[in-house]
Amino acid sequence: MDLGLKGKKALVCASSKGLGKGCAAALAAEGVDLVLNARGAEALEATAAELRAFGVSVTAVAADITTEEGQAKVLEAAGQVDILVTNAGGPPPGLWKDWGREDFIKALDANMLAPIALMTALLPGMCDRGWGRVVNITSQSVKAPIPQLGLSNSARTGLTGYVAGTSRQVAEFGVTINNLLPGIHATDRAASLDSGVVAKEGITMDEARARREATIPARRYGTAEEFGKACAFLCSVHSGFIVGQNLLLDGGGTNFTI
Ligand code: NAP
Repeated sequence: MDLGLKGKKALVCASSKGLGKGCAAALAAEGVDLVLNARGAEALEATAAELRAFGVSVTAVAADITTEEGQAKVLEAAGQVDILVTNAGGPPPGLWKDWGREDFIKALDANMLAPIALMTALLPGMCDRGWGRVVNITSQSVKAPIPQLGLSNSARTGLTGYVAGTSRQVAEFGVTINNLLPGIHATDRAASLDSGVVAKEGITMDEARARREATIPARRYGTAEEFGKACAFLCSVHSGFIVGQNLLLDGGGTNFTI
């Protein structure tokens, strides 16, 4: 299927590795010019070089997307874009009684206020031009809380509420906003969560992964590549009637009916 995206331009945040990179690669494969972002310049430049092989233009902006300065730097380099994919690192795991105001502010900045700031900056141009796509990478925890990820549960649910309302205000201009909810995917983030289990339970990384895979109906972790392809479809010309949705990619891991 031709996704109809050739020649469009996308800003993909937090995209030197993992799910963000998967989204950037899938868009590049469709002929989308890219603005990529991450904090670490070395991995970011390596990813940018890799994706230029698709024959698209790739601009790399090293910045912390959770800060106002980082957002300003990225937005200035990006200019006018047709597609925005928001993403940032996830908050650390922990226990409810250990989290104070500063922990919540950090989580809100990263996983709620940064995507909102980027949408606030870019939605007006998309609406004026009559076409746009926003995909926010959130988490399975929006549908079913992960107890040790309370900071993530809180911030991402806030973003989800914002998207539910805002997506219905911009749809008439040909602009869609949707969220992609990853369950466990084989990225550095998953390895870091598994290493927490290794440290706590004295098992190997392979055992930690096998235990977690056993809880997923698909019996495996997802891949950044398949996640990226779902993102590219949501960004495509065929997805204009998909508005304000929360698409779970979790191998069936979240146990509920609708
Ligand atoms: P990852 O493999 O650790 O990759 C994170 C990417 O984001 C890297 O490119 C990283 O580069 C960049 N990044 C992190 N913090 C950033 C910041 N403040 N500003 C700019 N770039 C930043 O993580 P992932 O697995 O792709 O996860 C992406 C998101 O999905 C996270 O929010 C994660 O919590 C969520 N999620 C993941 C899973 C999973 O199983 N993988 C499940 C549910 C939710 P730098 O470090 O160089 O900045």
